[in-house]
Amino acid sequence: MTTANTTGTAMLAEGLRAEATIDLAALRGNIASLRERVPSAALMAVVKADAYGHGALPCALEALAAGVRWLGATTPEEALALRAAGIAPEQARVLCWLWTPGGPWAQALRADIDVSISGQWALDELLDAVRATGIPARVHLKADTGLGRNGCQPHDWPDLVDAALRAQAAGQLEVVGLWSHFAAADEPGHPSIRAQQEAFAAALAYAERAGVRPEVRHLANSPATLLLPQTHYDLVRTGLSMYGLSPVPEVASPADFGLRPVMSLSARLALVKQVPGGHGVSYGHQYTTPGDTTLGLVPVGYADGIPRHASGTGPVQIGGKWRTVAGRVAMDQFVVDLGGDMPEVGEEVLLFGNGERGEPMAEDWARACGTISYEIVTRLGSRVPRRYVGGSGALG
Ligand SMILES: *Cc1c(COP(=O)(O)O)cnc(C)c1O
Repeated sequence: MTTANTTGTAMLAEGLRAEATIDLAALRGNIASLRERVPSAALMAVVKADAYGHGALPCALEALAAGVRWLGATTPEEALALRAAGIAPEQARVLCWLWTPGGPWAQALRADIDVSISGQWALDELLDAVRATGIPARVHLKADTGLGRNGCQPHDWPDLVDAALRAQAAGQLEVVGLWSHFAAADEPGHPSIRAQQEAFAAALAYAERAGVRPEVRHLANSPATLLLPQTHYDLVRTGLSMYGLSPVPEVASPADFGLRPVMSLSARLALVKQVPGGHGVSYGHQYTTPGDTTLGLVPVGYADGIPRHASGTGPVQIGGKWRTVAGRVAMDQFVVDLGGDMPEVGEEVLLFGNGERGEPMAEDWARACGTISYEIVTRLGSRVPRRYVGGSGALG
């Protein structure tokens, strides 16, 4: 892995069609900023979905280098991959929270992975694996406090807690966590926020009265971590903010929170040509040149994660000027109208970055496409190489 240019403003490497630069110094800086905001709780680095497109292993290792001791994954396979890559239980607890029947419970127990349980079927399968392996489980019981997605409904919570405590008394597991997840922490003042806090307090109160002594109670994602300090409990689970993006772009920018975007995406102009007015551009001729002009071909498309919804709206910076995607984004390429400019073929096209060169940011693409910055970075395709800069040496 390349560890050049610690400022994180590395140029697109020679000869590459496109490249995502992942600034690990920014990642560590973001973790330090978040920890300042969360003086009394631990931080879980959420590295699900390949660390939101940034690379799960490099980001997990940098988080460990920055002092983080909890890693969050969605699937058991993601959690197992972290252990398989050498992240030992002494270095980090790893929690995964989305199980389906027949999942790799026994492998998770052998790898000393914490598991989330939302319902009786999952507890039953887990206990089968505990009996088969002879390894007791570390369990986080998840309450549905109002998100209406995963988690145990309030009317089933007492039965789930009681069943887990019976298994704990039998030495089959330890309830180490009680937790839940917000529906709208990114909408300050949304009535569900207070309702979920109250429902969580009630779920905790029942479990604690029943005899659960959790290591960690956790509720906050990035927006709650940044905006709702009363929800921090013992552990906060941060994804997006750690990658330097604002979960509440209408309220505050990354810089307002002391955060810096970690990912930059660049491509290299593959063709620059003069065309007459009235010339159709890309599939369906959704764009027609308004007069004599120049077109630039940008060799990334929806196979690389550029949303097709960016057709006619996505922003890029070329030679210091912002340009807009002209016509449809195709699978492998899109076109921009350069308005008569003739940049060199091979010139760098900045799609998004940390904004320090005046380039668009992931949030600009999100706004252009009617989505959220979470999706812009996470959907970046596997065909785009990631280059790691600013590493602490944790990657070896
Ligand atoms: C993705 C996820 C998080 C992290 O959310 P961010 O808003 O990216 O910080 C936290 N908890 C759960 C359960 C998640 O699925």
